[in-house]
Amino acid sequence: MTKNLTIFISGLYSGPNPQPGVGIARSLRQGFPDAKLVGVEYSNRCSGIHWIDLDDVWLQRPWSELDLDLHACDIKQRLDDGAVWISSIDLEIVWLADVFPDGHPNLLVPSRGSLSMVRKPAITAHKGLPVKIPAFRGTDVDDWDLHSFCRDNDWNVWLKGPYYEAVRTPTWESFSHWRGVLSSAWATDELFLQAHVSGFEESVMISAYEGELLECVHMRKRDVTDLGKTWAGDAVTPPPEIVYPLRKIIRDLKWTGGGELEMVRDAEDQLWLLEWNPRFPAWVHGATIAGRNLPAALVEGATGIEAADCPIVACEFTRVVIEVPVRKEFPLPRLPEPFVGTAGHSMKHPSGLVEFAQRLHLAPGGSPSPSQAHNLSGVPESYLRDLEKVDFRHLQTPASLFFESTARETFKKSTTLTDVSKGEIRPIQAYSIKTNPDERLLRLALDFGFYAEAISPLEAQKAVAAGFRTEQLILNGPAKWWRRDELPDGRYHAVFCDSTLELERITRDIENRALSADVVGIRLRTPGVASRFGVPIDSPELFEVLINALREHPASIRFGVHFHMASSAIGIGQWRDLFRSMLAWCSSIESLAGRRIEVLDIGGGWFPGDFQRKSAIEFRELIKLVQGELPDVTELITEPGKALAQSTMALAMSVLEVRRYAGGTCEAVMDGSIADLPMHSFQPHRILLLDRESGDWRPLERGDSLLLGRLCMEHDIVAANVEVPAATRSGDVFVFCDAGAYDRSMSYVFGCG
Ligand SMILES: *Cc1c(COP(=O)(O)O)cnc(C)c1O
Repeated sequence: MTKNLTIFISGLYSGPNPQPGVGIARSLRQGFPDAKLVGVEYSNRCSGIHWIDLDDVWLQRPWSELDLDLHACDIKQRLDDGAVWISSIDLEIVWLADVFPDGHPNLLVPSRGSLSMVRKPAITAHKGLPVKIPAFRGTDVDDWDLHSFCRDNDWNVWLKGPYYEAVRTPTWESFSHWRGVLSSAWATDELFLQAHVSGFEESVMISAYEGELLECVHMRKRDVTDLGKTWAGDAVTPPPEIVYPLRKIIRDLKWTGGGELEMVRDAEDQLWLLEWNPRFPAWVHGATIAGRNLPAALVEGATGIEAADCPIVACEFTRVVIEVPVRKEFPLPRLPEPFVGTAGHSMKHPSGLVEFAQRLHLAPGGSPSPSQAHNLSGVPESYLRDLEKVDFRHLQTPASLFFESTARETFKKSTTLTDVSKGEIRPIQAYSIKTNPDERLLRLALDFGFYAEAISPLEAQKAVAAGFRTEQLILNGPAKWWRRDELPDGRYHAVFCDSTLELERITRDIENRALSADVVGIRLRTPGVASRFGVPIDSPELFEVLINALREHPASIRFGVHFHMASSAIGIGQWRDLFRSMLAWCSSIESLAGRRIEVLDIGGGWFPGDFQRKSAIEFRELIKLVQGELPDVTELITEPGKALAQSTMALAMSVLEVRRYAGGTCEAVMDGSIADLPMHSFQPHRILLLDRESGDWRPLERGDSLLLGRLCMEHDIVAANVEVPAATRSGDVFVFCDAGAYDRSMSYVFGCG
């Protein structure tokens, strides 16, 4: 009987990140020894075409050159003639589901409807399974939200493409880079960010025909490749709490074909569903070794032809690398040109998957990029009020704009955040001068009752000139004695030493009356999070050095501890963990050195909004934790810099030239540059422009245009992935908001003669 059975199997790539075709062929050969197995490929570079179990190979032109309509007709012909087709190429499956909207009894892939239900990241079909979906955010929302998503997830995030490719993006810069690469490669803006889940990976593989779950198997990875792909694992019966709901879901979806649910089990034993692939996994034959031949079950279910029994050889499997003879009719091509660039694996796929994705997207009826209806909802209302006061007709650009009412509101709001302590702990906020030493900001800080934090005598001088008393100043940083003769005379509120050497020196100075301060403290180097600042404490020897230094510290001066790690960089959850661990370290210091800690300074580094977002409640929690661990602390200092300054200034720049290219892309040369906006790649900026028709401000939308800076430097691109509106002409002004922190203080003069 099986002599007349012909099975087409596509997807034979067999490199380190293999497609399942070869494994499917091996399993089918076992289940149907006499069937004719035909391998389908779209490149002669896919080594699986030489696999011995294939009776024939149907080699096509690469996807970029293939006549898709003709190919569809050829496939239909073969299906009508009684052959069955198992696809293991995700994009081919999407395409086949479109070509056969009503399916075909011999086409063993899921329907369009099924595919839409298992689309990542939401994977709607998961309802009923004992799994959760990791938090995700589509990249069609604005940059501001995306940055916030990354901070909320401790920058432990993946940027994922619609079909293939996932990249860890631990910084905003890497996110921006990979967003550009992936969206242009896959011709779509439908990327998404997803929170990383730590744990052990496991999968459930399914085989189903027209809604009937024929067989399923549970695999736990025991070894993985550098790309995280299975190298070894076990294959066992899935637990009933997965099988029962799965059976119902498969029935509801009328699923046909293979499938794999990729999951991670976290330390609390919770399963997280990452992907639901519409095909067998590459380790499919590993399950056959364990007595579960899912491809054979699928063919048996579809054709009614009984498959051979599948013995259990072992319940664990591993991979080896083996050599196979090359088919005479497909001699090896020369080595390809060395690949230049850093694109991911699928983008280098020899059959041209990237080009195929582009064709699918550009085809009429393909999914077009969603054009987002942009509005100003995310932009603070005060920005618009401040912009109204600017006379753009007489503005020489590039120009820094001071957002007066925004600044006032920000400082005012910030005072309410720490206005919570009814207990003994007094909160002090000290504005970080270096973040932006603009006098207007210093004066606002003074008016709203802030102290100021200086990292040099010159900064202290500037603060005193702005009206601060030295008693309102905190000295910090590794080089606060640089040009010491400029340091204003007076008693300082606090001095935090960056080393034990400095602590000894300061102690002497205070005894000699060369310096006067209410509080002397040390900065601790954060253990576990790399930092160049402060006293290292993460080995017993180093810790002892610190303890000994503290024993010398005169009891008459209040003692403080400072630590600082930017929550904007390590994320909010990690910052809170660090805070807790620092309290534990401080408690050990107290008991070992016999010194009570009276002042705690937790530095700055908050992204604007993060402190505000969690508001006073968050601060109250911190105070409670401090009281629990360090009962002698009477003062909690924060040193916000960018949380206060970033929103208070914007950079206006004008368009010099607009270049529009065939295909719709555009480049606008601006009179501003990365010299005026040095944080352009480290944090998002909300870019506003005046709409020519309505005369209202509106945000620049996402697109594939570039804003080129005026400098004659390759990397001077002030914004990418933006849409220059059709009406934009030279002379138009774009306003880069959120540029009041390091964009201002670290900007430099360049290219101006
Ligand atoms: C720079 C700095 C700050 C402020 O950091 P932001 O990231 O601007 O909030 C606070 N404290 C110290 C000691 C600093 O060096």
